[in-house]
Amino acid sequence: MASLWYQEADRAGYLASTCPFPVACLQLNMKLAIAVLLAAGLVTGCDRPVAGEESAGPATRPVMIDNPTKLSDADWQKLLTPEQYRVLREKGTERAFTGKLTDVTDPGTYYCAACGQELFHSTTKFHSGCGWPSFYAAAAGDRVKLTKDLSAGMVRTEVTCSRCGSHLGHVFDDAPDQPTGQRYCINSVSLTFVPDAKGATTQPAK
Ligand SMILES: [Zn+2]
Repeated sequence: MASLWYQEADRAGYLASTCPFPVACLQLNMKLAIAVLLAAGLVTGCDRPVAGEESAGPATRPVMIDNPTKLSDADWQKLLTPEQYRVLREKGTERAFTGKLTDVTDPGTYYCAACGQELFHSTTKFHSGCGWPSFYAAAAGDRVKLTKDLSAGMVRTEVTCSRCGSHLGHVFDDAPDQPTGQRYCINSVSLTFVPDAKGATTQPAK
């Protein structure tokens, strides 16, 4: 919902870089203000960090929330949709072939839907046919944390965001046709995709 809020905010013609409440709302007519609030599902105003959401592409990169490791479960539940919370914070998995980003091929950058950290680039995305967005590498080695996962009766390697610890998916060594041989199998709901501006190219993470 946060990205929706941004879209509505952009339409309203004001910037979200600083807290827009309550001054900005007063500048809007009431109908639009109500639409913005409904779209955002806002719980509180100024101190509410903004998380991303899987989508076909908000206009701007998501805001990096401050000190994400200090957030409580209750904080995350306010920030995330129920499905995002289930996958990102409870290590859930979205159903195969249901994610919004599985077949996206547009140039752009994929950010953590929980904390806003840059995670993957479209330049490493490939169509694996597994039903989830697949990448052969992370944007940089320090963007993800890999952990042995023995759940569900399998031996897998879990991929989490190195900044906030949220669950992203798993990585497998089963992509021999890719440069690294690896397949990062990532939930769409764990990602916020931001397409490149027209004419721009995706810049590798520093
Ligand atoms: Zn994160």
